[in-house]
Amino acid sequence: MVYKHVALIGLGLIASSIALAIKRGKLTTKVTATSRSKSTRSKASDLGICNVVSTLQEAVKDADLIILCVPVGAMEEVFQEIAPFLKSGSTLTDVGSVKASIVDQIMPNLPKDVHFIPGHPIAGTEHSGPEAGLANLFDERWCILTPSNDTKPEILKNLISFWENLGARVDTMEPEHHDLVLAVTSHAPHLIAFTMVGVANDLENVTKSEIINYSAAGFRDFTRIAASDPTMWRDVFLRNKEASLKVLDRFTEELFLLRRAIIKEDGDYLHEYFSRTRAIRRRIIDAGQDTGEPDFGRGKT
Ligand code: NAP
Repeated sequence: MVYKHVALIGLGLIASSIALAIKRGKLTTKVTATSRSKSTRSKASDLGICNVVSTLQEAVKDADLIILCVPVGAMEEVFQEIAPFLKSGSTLTDVGSVKASIVDQIMPNLPKDVHFIPGHPIAGTEHSGPEAGLANLFDERWCILTPSNDTKPEILKNLISFWENLGARVDTMEPEHHDLVLAVTSHAPHLIAFTMVGVANDLENVTKSEIINYSAAGFRDFTRIAASDPTMWRDVFLRNKEASLKVLDRFTEELFLLRRAIIKEDGDYLHEYFSRTRAIRRRIIDAGQDTGEPDFGRGKT
């Protein structure tokens, strides 16, 4: 058992999935958790996923590992509230989708005897709240940790083992590099999905019922992504501004090249481009990060 007592701050999709995976693997003796609202705490309590308490102080008291599972924009405030109550020698981590800004907010105010290693499990769904939690959410998914040069090897080793026991594969990188990689693989694709669904919604000569009834696989996949939590995604773009803009600039350039190929009826350009993108899909499936099953939108979420 790497940590005897784990505290979860926040009780949404990610925290409840961690609690369920801990339960599945019998990984700790104690899990305490809390959430800002009474209704979320009651839901989590009814689901019986862990020991739900009312205050941040109660949640973190004597915990060996504390995991911040709130939106990126709320991390700093929550951290300031728990900082005085963290146990000496404990490890603090988070699951936020952006890393550099969280490091900037937490490191300057970190109690001297607490170890902080930021983290981000690359696993999730478009659902939110404790009822959305899945014990197998992290199985075979990557979790990226962004330790600093000062992180003690044994402290990092323990956190890596914890995530591996939850089912994940673990990699480490610099926070800024994480933010660029995720801008490409997650943040920009979400923004594009939000835009496409917004465009469809605003088209004047296509009716709403036509969009719903004739939604083909491409648009349906966009709507699934665009149904993700608005608070989480607002915070991601506000806190990963530079990398998001960099990727969006590249995207806009490519879009104009494809637009030009359509205008010029350059079929060779389009065919070659789509062949390259198809090969990337194949590599994701080969790496075990998705299945090659046809998905008509009826698969399990
Ligand atoms: P979620 O299901 O929406 O749950 C959010 C939790 O944070 C709830 O407990 C909520 O409390 C609490 N919260 C919201 N705003 C808060 C505030 N201003 N102050 C204090 N607490 C607040 O979210 P989630 O999907 O688990 O995401 C949590 C973190 O994981 C985010 O940082 C996100 O970037 C990251 N992440 C998400 C995914 C994903 O696919 N969803 C994947 C990887 C990482 P109440 O319900 O009580 O209001």
